[in-house]
Order: sequence, then structure tokens, then C-alpha cells
Amino acid sequence: MHEISLVKNIFGSLDSVYPVADRSKITKIYMKVGLLSNVEPILMQNAFEAVVATERKEYQGCALQIEVLPILVYCDECKKESEVINFKFVCACNRPSNNIIQGNELLISGVDVAR
Ligand SMILES: [Zn+2]
Repeated sequence: MHEISLVKNIFGSLDSVYPVADRSKITKIYMKVGLLSNVEPILMQNAFEAVVATERKEYQGCALQIEVLPILVYCDECKKESEVINFKFVCACNRPSNNIIQGNELLISGVDVAR
């Protein structure tokens, strides 16, 4: 379950930004996860809860919110973005496109900190 190590990496990133005294004030972590990133939001939530309960108790008051981003490709012919449905990498004009402009994301997009 690679989600556990992903969650640990998230906390590692927060550690470098927030001093210990501020970590318990973080109420929400926002993540953006592209459909191509191989991250299952449910597994990510479970991993988050497990890591918080065992080794990251300072984040007990914190929730994780995951936004799943669809895959977008760019078509060189019609200069448009199209959403990839069912992993069919074609533009709305039916031309194949592997010019992925969104879908690989795996990032922290923000945090809420209580004052
Ligand atoms: Zn097109």
C-alpha cells in the first residue's frame, strides 16, 4: 500500500513548513490527485487516518480533502483541451492525442490553519 508512504511524505513536507507548535493547529489538508497518479482516494484517506492514529497524533484534529482531477489532453489540430474518458486518449475531434496536460498531479494544494 504505497499510500502510507505518500501520507508520510505529506507530513514530511508540512514538517518543513510548520514548526511543531503550529502542526496541531492545521485543521485541513487539501490535495489534488490526478487520475493518472495511481492514488485511490479511499486508500489515501485510510492511510491518512492510520498514520495520524499511530505516529502523527499532533494532526488528530486534521482532515484530508482530496480533489480528483480528470485527465486532460491537448489536441494540436484543433488547439483544444479534451477530457479523457475511460482512458481513451482522443480529442473531441476523434484524433488520438497523448499530449497530457493534466492528470499526473499529486500535490498538496493548501492547508487550513486555525488561528
Ligand atoms: Zn482535436
